[in-house]
Amino acid sequence: HSTTKPPPNPSPLRSAKFFQANMRILVTGGAGFIGSHLVDKLMENEKNEVIVVDNYFTGSKDNLRQWIGHPRFELIRHDVTEPLLIEVDQIYHLACPASPIFYKYNPVKTIKTNVIGTLNMLGLAKRVGARILLTSTSEVYGDPLVHPQDESYWGNVNPIGVRSCYDEGKRVAETLMFDYHRQHGIEIRIARIFNTYGPRMNIDDGRVVSNFIAQAIRDEPLTVQSPGTQTRSFCYVSDMVDGLIRLMQGNNTGPINIGNPGIVIPNCHRDDHNDVNTDLGFSHAGEFTMVELAENVKELINPKVEIISVENTPDDPRQRKPDITKAKELLGWEPKIKLREGLPLMEKDFRKRLGIHRTN
Ligand code: NAD
Ligand code: UDP
Ligand code: UDP
Repeated sequence: HSTTKPPPNPSPLRSAKFFQANMRILVTGGAGFIGSHLVDKLMENEKNEVIVVDNYFTGSKDNLRQWIGHPRFELIRHDVTEPLLIEVDQIYHLACPASPIFYKYNPVKTIKTNVIGTLNMLGLAKRVGARILLTSTSEVYGDPLVHPQDESYWGNVNPIGVRSCYDEGKRVAETLMFDYHRQHGIEIRIARIFNTYGPRMNIDDGRVVSNFIAQAIRDEPLTVQSPGTQTRSFCYVSDMVDGLIRLMQGNNTGPINIGNPGIVIPNCHRDDHNDVNTDLGFSHAGEFTMVELAENVKELINPKVEIISVENTPDDPRQRKPDITKAKELLGWEPKIKLREGLPLMEKDFRKRLGIHRTN
């Protein structure tokens, strides 16, 4: 009688090639701007198999062309408002138009994407036991009455305005995430993303950085929407992706702000907005008025271009800047790329896509 245990039964599946990848990751909205950069980063890890689901409303296959045909990559045309039956370990749920002109184009569809789309992804997460991360937004703070915004702030949002399909939609999506977590024990992660920029943004999607860069390259006036004193803080896309992956891999549900509040230099107060033009205005400031942003794009990309004031859209938040204390403490994350480093990288990508070379 021998006490030696027999070797475990080698399952035919275990040795099969689909077990080489030990993390199967779904990225909804993976053909979009942030999603495609996230896919690039996830694909760097040979243990990851990545499945993208996208309906190509604002995204494009072109953003993923380097991965099409790769054995660890799969692209599915699918709308998240319809149920999805696949087997995955993690879900990065990004699917949702992010630019105001696109999310306002069909507001009912936007709210369905946020609510039914998120419900479906949570149902999927529940069925397969996957961890799910939602890319929520700083827009959940609305036109904030607290500045900078930390995650405990409940926001100041118009429930019946033209932006509500997006910001109230994301608020319901966050609620659904927490209800599935509390009621069904789903592992959730919520990122509240602040304005993000970088290569592959839709050239004509109407967001401010893409507008100003495209306008400067095309010799068109930079359109500052009135009053121009409204502020935003801009995060480069590689920093954003790094933050999202850390959040997914860590132990905190969030919500956690991910954005770029700028580098704070002691004794340097930005509140008066007067010191911004030193060193091109980018060295210490993370929060820019739209006039300052336009002035800096002009200086960096096309000094000959004109800056004009145009009418704004309703409910435009007047100021926005993240408090990233939680991200720093819980994820060990903070942004590395300053605007003056990121803008030229984006200019290069836009020039290539527009076919307009720099002449000066
Ligand atoms: P994007 O528009 O480039 O990407 C969104 C992607 O989702 C696109 O590929 C689009 O085709 C896809 N999509 C939209 N509706 C869909 C649906 N019903 N089914 C399947 N796919 C669908 O936007 P982005 O800037 O990459 O934003 C990604 C996520 O980050 C969004 O959830 C957005 O709300 C969030 N976010 C972005 C920013 C930002 O500054 N870029 C700020 C806050 C939050
Ligand atoms: N769902 C999905 N994929 C799955 C499991 C569920 O798309 O693998 C959808 C399902 O169609 C439903 C939603 O997710 O509309 C919520 O699913 P859940 O099981 O939580 O709720 P129920 O189906 O019981 O309403
Ligand atoms: N904006 C602008 N000119 C443009 C586009 C936008 O001045 O051509 C302003 C807009 O009024 C807002 C800010 O830029 O105050 C950011 O707008 P965006 O649509 O990029 O993102 P949001 O933060 O509003 O989602």
